[in-house]
Amino acid sequence: MDQIQFSGVKKSYRSGQTAVDNLSFQVEKGEIYTLLGPSGCGKTTTLRLLAGFEKPDGGQISIAGNVMAGAGYWVPPEKRGVGMVFQNYALFPHLDVARNVAFGLRNSPPCVRAGRAREFIDLVGLSGFEKRFPHELSGGQQQRVALARALCPEPLVILLDEPFSNLDADLRETMRGELKKIIRSTGATAVLVTHDQKDALAISDRIMVMQRGSIQQQGDPRSIYLSPANQFVAAFIGKSNIITGRLSANCRFIETDIGEIPINPPHLKGKNGAFRLSIRPEGFELADDGPITGRINTVNYLGSEQECLIDVPPDTRESTRLLVRVGPGMDLSPGDLVRMKVLPCLVAVIDKKTP
Ligand code: ADP
Ligand code: MG
Repeated sequence: MDQIQFSGVKKSYRSGQTAVDNLSFQVEKGEIYTLLGPSGCGKTTTLRLLAGFEKPDGGQISIAGNVMAGAGYWVPPEKRGVGMVFQNYALFPHLDVARNVAFGLRNSPPCVRAGRAREFIDLVGLSGFEKRFPHELSGGQQQRVALARALCPEPLVILLDEPFSNLDADLRETMRGELKKIIRSTGATAVLVTHDQKDALAISDRIMVMQRGSIQQQGDPRSIYLSPANQFVAAFIGKSNIITGRLSANCRFIETDIGEIPINPPHLKGKNGAFRLSIRPEGFELADDGPITGRINTVNYLGSEQECLIDVPPDTRESTRLLVRVGPGMDLSPGDLVRMKVLPCLVAVIDKKTP
């Protein structure tokens, strides 16, 4: 059963700004679901609507089959069974770790409270830190306290707003794995907000890509990356070459200015006209027998990979400049002539080009 259901939810602020525009989506029980999109696209507003900190102007929000907002219903935040980890963690500065974590249990007897708090402090790996105050903790430790505090009352749903934004790069990578493990171990349904595509790809069961308050695409990380639905998604999640061409007579290629691009699976049968393709930078493979010839313009050596700009075809003013990702071992320099082939699994037909 769907644990969370948004149906046609709308929210505008007094400024007249439409933050969430007719949003419909479902999240299954136990799923880690991520709202991904650029700053200002309505992610935090969506979380706040779900938590009950904002009222929708229209539409309906349900949790575990019960209407929380809409159709004449309104359930206040504390009755929704929702735990929230705020972007700045919002820990109580005057309470130590144990009291912060136990905060959501203030209606339980003290002995139950202490035991449960200990259990969740242990779960997030902070045993021994019970008596520390928030200012005596690192960013990563504060995040763990916020997580333990949100999970301690055993909510049906846990909401996390940009959980990695205050962490440095190394810690961020470790915490992605940790957070996933901790959320899974509680069985809670999680809705996470981030503007960072790597966070989203690494941690999510499913991702919703948002722009200007509405859904651009929904799917698991692989399908979002390999089959972006449109140019916005192709450019926002990773990098992409956008190329236009026409379907070949046998429906297996798109004929473009850089050559015939194989499409996989060939699903455009019976359609004609111009199509727009997204080809990922790693969708080109340098190969001596490749059908595409180009000349390297720039090499950006990054260690684990090198990003090259390659002009195809070479030596004409009409060439297309492609972004191509190559392994770190190959010795490449600007001016080199190279041959390439295209890997069909990294090609997506994103739309029919409007004339
Ligand atoms: P995100 O979390 O994706 O960055 P938000 O949901 O915070 O986006 O904001 C969506 C839009 O609504 C933005 O244009 C923002 O300026 C506007 N907005 C957010 N909160 C308020 C508010 N309290 N009052 C007025 N406008 C707001
Ligand atoms: Mg936000």
